[in-house]
Amino acid sequence: MFNLILFGPPGSGKGTQSEKLVEKYGLVHLSTGNLLREEITNKTPLGLEAKAFIDKGQLVPDEVVIGMVDSFFEHHKEAKGFLFDGFPRTSAQAEALDKLLELKKTSICVMLALSVSEEELVKRLMKRGETSGRSDDTNENVIRARITEYHNKTAVVADYYRNFDKVVLVKGEGTVDDIFRSLCAEIDCRI
Ligand code: AMP
Repeated sequence: MFNLILFGPPGSGKGTQSEKLVEKYGLVHLSTGNLLREEITNKTPLGLEAKAFIDKGQLVPDEVVIGMVDSFFEHHKEAKGFLFDGFPRTSAQAEALDKLLELKKTSICVMLALSVSEEELVKRLMKRGETSGRSDDTNENVIRARITEYHNKTAVVADYYRNFDKVVLVKGEGTVDDIFRSLCAEIDCRI
């Protein structure tokens, strides 16, 4: 299996690039943000719990997210590889993911980390809010809270994988196609 984490702050282009990458490489896209939004749309108890955190720009508790990923794996036993987008977002999630992958006798091959300046992130998210229909993209305070959560809880996840020499930085500014090409070059020499 080829398992890849696409990492970066909110607004760094993970969603856009993930869609192109899963199509090119035939990977299964696991976006915890998308899964949570589906739960909210379906008004499930998990969705209702998650919404309260998402609306404030805070991370959803680890046990909720890890349980959701575990059940996603149960439904995708035939996958030839996963692209993780927006997960793991804490050290506890990273450790849990390693254990879940170990059970499947596989592991993370590489973490591609998109780097984008903070002002560019806010600009992109505000712009996305005009069309995405996402309530957490329209309020600048919520956007800034999401970036703060990223610095406080998520940035350390890169250190976790750096210890295993699995992190590659990729410039996340430029055209969508340029960034896609840089990501593909990093994948092609590992796959
Ligand atoms: P995203 O679509 O990845 O930007 O996620 C939107 C929101 O969903 C985040 O701001 C968090 O509130 C929540 N979320 C998504 N993925 C996770 C995760 N792995 N851990 C905790 N919260 C998450």
